Amino acid sequence: MQHYRTLARLAFFLLFMLAPPLDLFRFDLTVNHLFFLGEPWRLGFTAQSGSLEMVSSIFYRIFLPIFLVISVGGWVAWKYGRLYCGWLCPHFAVVEIINALMRRSSGKPSLWEKQRLPEHQSDGRHIPHNRWYWLVTAVVVVMVSLLWAVVLLTYLLPPKDIYTNLLTFSLTRNQALFIGVGTLLLIIEFTLARHLFCRFGCALGVMQSVIWMGNREALVVGFDSPRAKLCADCDASCEHACPMRLKPRTIKRKMFTCTQCHSCIDACGKVQEHASGVSLLHWVQGEQAKAVAKGAGQPPRLLDSSQGDQPS
Ligand code: SF4
Ligand code: SF4
Repeated sequence: MQHYRTLARLAFFLLFMLAPPLDLFRFDLTVNHLFFLGEPWRLGFTAQSGSLEMVSSIFYRIFLPIFLVISVGGWVAWKYGRLYCGWLCPHFAVVEIINALMRRSSGKPSLWEKQRLPEHQSDGRHIPHNRWYWLVTAVVVVMVSLLWAVVLLTYLLPPKDIYTNLLTFSLTRNQALFIGVGTLLLIIEFTLARHLFCRFGCALGVMQSVIWMGNREALVVGFDSPRAKLCADCDASCEHACPMRLKPRTIKRKMFTCTQCHSCIDACGKVQEHASGVSLLHWVQGEQAKAVAKGAGQPPRLLDSSQGDQPS
């Protein structure tokens, strides 16, 4: 599952970078209109146009696309939660890379964690702590922040001008200011906030979580609590694997910001590989998801080992 996720995130990150140069999506402040799928996206009427033409143009070119995006996004969030965050978001991809580097550097995935995570985990992962990784972490944070600031600017000004000015060291004062300030703010965000921004600061993420919470049958990570005694020999590898720093063996309300990244399920699968053979965590939907929303009173049913981590 993590291989598919890596591919999806890589593809979306490339799209995030290439959308402006390919005119797939950007708002050009110099001409004051959108570019969409290679075409200028203008309203298509003039001062001489009739009012009916104006209204229909605004409807088809503004309200309908916004309505479609919100409907599709809302439906996905209702059924599957923050799938966009865990599988596509270019910010979350950076969050996971920097969390992993910080863990290598200090044993903690963020500066705010109290406890170091173990070097040897029950799921077989071996992550030795090495202070020299702070250097790598710092370089990656700066480079990614710079890249993000440049890419964001290309969503607002002609990408060809920005990249040419950058390569020939001839950025205008305002372009340099945007990139400089943007890089600085992103360095602060990527160093101090990261998944905390995803949890509490990102409007898109919080909106998906709120919609998801409204559907008690939506996809959620369920814990096979009747087999909970199997956790006794484990070091909570599922919790160590969570990029949002959640505790996956809990009720849905406490996993409000889960990104459906499947990392906890894969970690438990590894832990149980040589024990019961079946992960204690698995994606559940429908009635089983209702049990996760209600809490420990009605745990998800036991799984048949032949069904892998699919709900029985
Ligand atoms: S659910 Fe799996 S990974 Fe988590 S503590 Fe239990 S055995 Fe370990
Ligand atoms: S709880 Fe599991 S699926 Fe949700 S964000 Fe954490 S690791 Fe990913």
